[in-house]
Amino acid sequence: MRGHAFEARVKDDGGTGLIRLLCERLGDGPAPPPGPGDVDTPDLAASGPEGRTARTALALREATAAGRWALLDHPMLALSVAGTPAYLEPDAVVVHPDGGWTVVEIKSFAMVDGAADAAKVGAAARQAAVYALALEPVAERVDGASVRHRALLVCPKNFSNLPDAALVDLRKQLATTRRQLDRLTGVADIADGLPEGTTFDLCLADDGRTPTRPAEELAAAVDAVGAAYAPECLAACELAFHCRARSRAADAVQTLGRALRAELGGLTTIEAVLAAAAGEAGDPADPAVAALRRAARLRAESLETAGAASCP
Ligand code: SF4
Repeated sequence: MRGHAFEARVKDDGGTGLIRLLCERLGDGPAPPPGPGDVDTPDLAASGPEGRTARTALALREATAAGRWALLDHPMLALSVAGTPAYLEPDAVVVHPDGGWTVVEIKSFAMVDGAADAAKVGAAARQAAVYALALEPVAERVDGASVRHRALLVCPKNFSNLPDAALVDLRKQLATTRRQLDRLTGVADIADGLPEGTTFDLCLADDGRTPTRPAEELAAAVDAVGAAYAPECLAACELAFHCRARSRAADAVQTLGRALRAELGGLTTIEAVLAAAAGEAGDPADPAVAALRRAARLRAESLETAGAASCP
């Protein structure tokens, strides 16, 4: 509620104050800050996400062609994630008179003496980078448009409800997100690799709520799809308990966390890790195997020392 109230306050003058904040942070730019009535706020209402996305694209085109300041309040953007459109709604996008587009993120965490919590700023930057990526294909189709790679982060100033703002460089987050999106496998490719007739249909009864499909059958269908479980899934995915059980049954090192999995290199099961540490398997030239053996040796020495010290 505090966040919504703050966002409403930031935008309550039609975006003039928000754009002035942006101009202040940009320093002396080619365009002077807007006066009252100098900011266009196009109507973005339309039905459904596709309609809203099309309306936003049209508004961006018209605002860019007009060569005036414009504030698009909660526009809708589409980003292709593994071939499937994901619909995104930034807090605002500012169109500059020179055709630049800036993503605006309005957050309720405080900016104290011009600085905010680094972890929260990082999360806001990753979010803004996704919006900037979704804007890029739209900008490519509009003459003179370009997506700025710095977003405006607006937060309450020193715990008051007055806005403060900072420009956040998105270049690193853009490169990372682009790389991650490129590496995603398309849903159609995943579906092609499934056994013929695989379905996740619950076969609901006439009441529209009771599943009639046997749980084992559904579990087998889910198991047909590969998964890369990590403990972080527990906070984010409804299938986490299923994937964790599957990962534990396979003795996979993923259950120990992504960081450890990365450290262990080619050792994919806990059994292989223990065998490598005990010197029963693994290539001694492999840095992961060498580190495990050194750790096992240190552990044995510590236990010996502790055992000797506690002897009467
Ligand atoms: S829990 Fe969810 S996110 Fe994690 S591997 Fe399973 S399906 Fe994927």
